[in-house]
Amino acid sequence: MRIVMKFGGTSVGGEQALKNVVALTGRYAKSNDVVVVASAMNGVTNTLMDASNWASQRDQAHVAEILEQLRRRHESTCRQVIASADLMRKTTACLDDELRELERALTGISYLAELTPRSRDFVLSFGEKLSTHLLAGALNDAGLKVKRLTGDEAGIVTDASFGEAAPLTEITKQQVKERLDPLIKDGTIPVIAGFIAATQDGVPTTLGRGASDYTATIVGVALEADEVWIWTDVDGIMTADPKIEPAAQTIPELSFMEAMEMSHLAAKAMHPKALEPAAEVGLPVRVKNTFNPNGPDTLILQDQPIKSGSIVKAVTSVREASMVTVSGAGMHGAPGTAAKVLDVLRENDINILMISQSSSEANISLVIA
Ligand code: ASP
Ligand code: MG
Repeated sequence: MRIVMKFGGTSVGGEQALKNVVALTGRYAKSNDVVVVASAMNGVTNTLMDASNWASQRDQAHVAEILEQLRRRHESTCRQVIASADLMRKTTACLDDELRELERALTGISYLAELTPRSRDFVLSFGEKLSTHLLAGALNDAGLKVKRLTGDEAGIVTDASFGEAAPLTEITKQQVKERLDPLIKDGTIPVIAGFIAATQDGVPTTLGRGASDYTATIVGVALEADEVWIWTDVDGIMTADPKIEPAAQTIPELSFMEAMEMSHLAAKAMHPKALEPAAEVGLPVRVKNTFNPNGPDTLILQDQPIKSGSIVKAVTSVREASMVTVSGAGMHGAPGTAAKVLDVLRENDINILMISQSSSEANISLVIA
């Protein structure tokens, strides 16, 4: 099989987790063509966000502290997961180059005291740049032939909507295929930085928070993979949040429609956009647990017939939502009132989760987040 495996932040977040990832990749690469996509180490993207904010406020002390913390975490993990002295030296040198570039970017932001969406994306891109050096080094150390690539090196091109850039599908597909197919044929495992890409002019962009999943399905579709595996820290997609409901169970199979609905409704298993490219071509997506690789998992695939006995597949909860009901005579037979209400929300950048309107009761109810 050709499998694209995406490892999330906790899966690459420390020594033990990375060792698991190396073992899993080695195990599946023996008899499959494997492509790896990785997130930043957990917490790092948030830390980079903080660093960019401190820099724009010219708070050098906080920036320096964060840079030091990032250096310590990546370098110490590097020593833990790479045994060969030569590889460790090479990997540390790569980490060092990235950290210097990051430092220069933050210095630039603080000189100008201005943080644009474009410069923020550049700063955020370093989480995945750093983690993939570590992961590629560790895989290499375990005797696997790898090539580490950033998202744009892998061929992912986007528009310039920084913070949530949209991939240019056709050229991305073509480039990813052209660049990765020869590596795979040659027995090399591409190790790709998730979340980050670039415009056609090479300006760094990000695909949106949590979007390494999206990178994985984009790559999977381009490479005509048999499956995309999202390795996370829970046993697939569950019937409820196990932290709230201890009796929650793994859902063995879901349709794309069901999984997309769940990801929009706060089941954190996957990035909402990630399933779109897979659903379009019917590329199955499996959600697995790095820390329990032989445990149950969820397979998401084209429409599943409803099986009787389990009509309700899952329960999700949305926290911190409010319901506002607007009612009164003005709602009755007065066209445009609902539009006015929605306009106020748009002007204030408030996201609407659900709308219900009843003309007989002359009210409109909105669930907002
Ligand atoms: N590192 C990015 C984030 O934290 C992307 C990801 O983890 O999927 O949003
Ligand atoms: Mg995620």
